[in-house]
This record gives sequence, structure tokens and C-alpha cells, in this order.
Amino acid sequence: MLVEGAIVDLDGARPGYVRLRGTQVVETGQIGTDSSHGTERRVHGIVVPAPVNSHTHLGDSGFQREPPRGRLAEVVGAPGGAKFRYLSETKARAKAAGAREALRRMAREGTAGVIDFREEGLAGVRLLRRAAGKLPLDLRILGRPLRRPIDPAELGALLDISDGVGLSSAREEDRETRRAIASACRERGKRYALHASEESREDPAEFLDPHPDLLVHLLSATEEDLGAVAREGVPVAVCPRSNALFGQAPDLAAFERSGVTTLLGTDNGMLNAPSLFRELEFAYVSQRLRHRGVSPGFLVKAAFLSPWAWLGRPEVARVAPGHDGPKLIFRLPADDPEYALVARATEQLIVRPESPRPA
Ligand SMILES: [Zn+2]
Repeated sequence: MLVEGAIVDLDGARPGYVRLRGTQVVETGQIGTDSSHGTERRVHGIVVPAPVNSHTHLGDSGFQREPPRGRLAEVVGAPGGAKFRYLSETKARAKAAGAREALRRMAREGTAGVIDFREEGLAGVRLLRRAAGKLPLDLRILGRPLRRPIDPAELGALLDISDGVGLSSAREEDRETRRAIASACRERGKRYALHASEESREDPAEFLDPHPDLLVHLLSATEEDLGAVAREGVPVAVCPRSNALFGQAPDLAAFERSGVTTLLGTDNGMLNAPSLFRELEFAYVSQRLRHRGVSPGFLVKAAFLSPWAWLGRPEVARVAPGHDGPKLIFRLPADDPEYALVARATEQLIVRPESPRPA
């Protein structure tokens, strides 16, 4: 198949063609110079690496009612918030079914990677891993050990089956606990991540000690805080729709200015559909509403490109022969491809390439 229009990847957005065999890119170049001699199916559109949902809590996806209109702690805080009540009162099978539905939806919509913060200790990680089954998603589960003080046996068992640890926040976990968790993760080649400056500002000296592999939110961070995070080289996942439900918004223009590596996530399954297309559009439009424009290119990087380096698969973020990994084709005009991906893309516009021919 030949796609003529635009390529969007780590080298930027540019006009061009992409020739694919199955889902594999075999040739790219300037439009009109391809070697297919008019023999292949030809579509007009945009080729981009598949997106990654960089922050979810899929365990509460089975909660499908309007979320309560309370403060953050009343809705998603432990142990009394609506979310943790749902988790403790709901049977594992029902929670797994909710998570499975969210994962299937993401796979159908072309999302190729997911970074989930999973509560409920070892059982929580197992539940999500089983729910994912063989779906075509690169799912990374950051679990949460339950015992305090840290029980090395529990933490070790958790790291055996998870991709690391995702903590609630530095405010809720003392430094000794954070250091014990981070060093165990480091030893095992796993990731240590946490939420930071969500409802109110926290001191970067706290949440950057020990050095995390990923932060989430930084909603109440100052420009100086963002600068400190950028200098430490820690990526930050933002979830603007989730924040909006609590009357807040990340200052994405400040994120863009700070140079901090930004990723995009959809947060709790009980709050929002796990759709990155909805998240992208809301992120862009809500910033315009606040008269703080953020560039479409910045949001494209956050959803489609930057997460692949975090996942240890940087080759996916390039559309070129030899750079294997999931790519998407959108039947969208190529005039302004980054804006089209942010404000116009939906799953219905994804063109599915033919299945690979037998060798
Ligand atoms: Zn979260």
C-alpha cells in the first residue's frame, strides 16, 4: 500500500509518501518518486507512529457512572474516596471485565502502548495482566506494594510480575519508603514513578528525591518547578480531562516552554474514556480557551512520539524502513498534519493496511 500525504515522526512533520508491506514501512520519500509504478493501493493521508496512553488507572474502569462532584480526595483518594470504595467492594471478575473493555477499546482505536498505575498490590497487578491477555498492546504495569514499612519480600514479588512501582505521591509516602522502593526498582531494572503537585504544589526537592523515572500531573507546579524537572530529565504525564473534572488545568504552554518531556494520559477509567483522540482535542482546545495556546506539535510529541523512548522502543517513533513497530495511517488532509492529528483525528479515520503477504 502507498500512502501519499504527510509523515509525522521524530524528524518532524513533512510532505511525503510511505510504502507499506502489511504494517511494515518499506520505503519513504518525496511524493511522485515511489517505485510502485502505480501498481499498489494508494490512499491520501498521514502516517504517524501509533500513540501511547501514558497514564491510566484501569482498575476502576468498571465504575461507569458520572463521577461524584467532590474534591480529589473524595473521588479518587485512598481509602475512603469513591474509587477505593469501588475497588474494595467490587468482585475481581467485574474489575477485570471493566479493565478488559478499556484495553480492548484502546487496541481498537490504534493505541499501541499503555502505562498503568495499578493499586491493590500483587493481586492488582495480576488482575490487570490477566485482563490484557493477548491484546496487541505494550502494557506496562506500575504496581503498588501495600505493606508499610516496606516488606522486601512483598516488594520483590511485586517487581517479579510488574514493570515497576507507581506511587500515589511523595506527600503520602515518607522519603525512606520512597528510597527503598526506588532502589529496589533500580536493582531490578524496573521503573519508579509517582504523582506530584496534583491538588496543590509540592516541593520538587521532595518528589525528585529519589530520582523518579516518571512523574504524573504537575498541575500546580510553578515555572521554576517545571524547569527543575526538565533539568533532572524526568518525563511528566499530563491528563487534562481528568484535571478538568476537579476544576483544574495544567499550564501546558509553560510545559512547552520549560522543555520538560511531556506525555499524555487519560487517567482513571472511572472518570474518562481511555481515548487519546478525545484527550488530544481537549488538551488543545482547553488551552486556547485559557488564551494560553500550546502548539499542536507539542501535543503530537506527547501522544505519538516521546513515550516510545520511555518504553525503551525509540525506533517506533520514526516512520522509515527498518524502524519497525506500530504505525497508524489516518485518512486526513495533509495540509497541516500536526493540527489534523490533534484536532481532527478519530479512530474512524484510521486506514488498516493489508495483512502481510507470506514471504
Ligand atoms: Zn494517576
